[in-house]
Amino acid sequence: MRVAVVSDIHANLHALEAVLAEIEREQPDELWCLGDLVGYGPKPNECCRLVREHATLSLCGNHDLGVLGVIDLADFAGDAGVAARWTRTVLGADERAWLETLAPSAVRDGVELFHASPRDPIWEYVLSDHIAQLGLQATAAPLVLVGHSHIPLSIAWDETTLSGGVAAGGTEVALAGARRLLNPGSVGQPRDGDPRAAWLWLDFDAGEARFRRTPYEIARTQAEFAEAGLPAALSLRLGPGI
Ligand code: ZN
Repeated sequence: MRVAVVSDIHANLHALEAVLAEIEREQPDELWCLGDLVGYGPKPNECCRLVREHATLSLCGNHDLGVLGVIDLADFAGDAGVAARWTRTVLGADERAWLETLAPSAVRDGVELFHASPRDPIWEYVLSDHIAQLGLQATAAPLVLVGHSHIPLSIAWDETTLSGGVAAGGTEVALAGARRLLNPGSVGQPRDGDPRAAWLWLDFDAGEARFRRTPYEIARTQAEFAEAGLPAALSLRLGPGI
């Protein structure tokens, strides 16, 4: 089976469309989304519709739950809260109803999926070896997938040693030989210094994973931020990908 994994789209339609076009060329068997479809960005409804149409599995993330009112927006600082409140005003009834069906974690054959982390699928960031190890110890599947941090990550754990770290675009890793925790990075708000949209290709038959990056027209998304009146800082950071 071959699976494309996306995460943290954050209502960035042009990034999502570019990634879906590249994924379509690869003809995966499935498309999985690790959540945060909305929040920050200007096109929440369009992104929900595209993920609903193309993904065979989608989780929800903390931003989705904040917009839905499941999480108190007091937990969202500054611009994130402003964008979440704006998203509430424009989110369509169908899109809202669909988001409400999603959970922040799921299990597939040999894979455990979480928006944030195994210990806290909604909020915990996996950004250190220690938290990655605790997450791997809290799970049993050979492969653990997380999103949320917007930093592509590949951590291997062979029951004695932890190895790996931030995964640049083009990085390839073997899925055999050790348990792995992988984060595809973010489609719509990358924060690893590479502004291209991030996603992950999993080939279970070949036993390998590849970190992918897809360029998109950042200026088009930035123009939509301005049209929507969303905070400029959320739009400007797309340029350097931070
Ligand atoms: Zn996110």
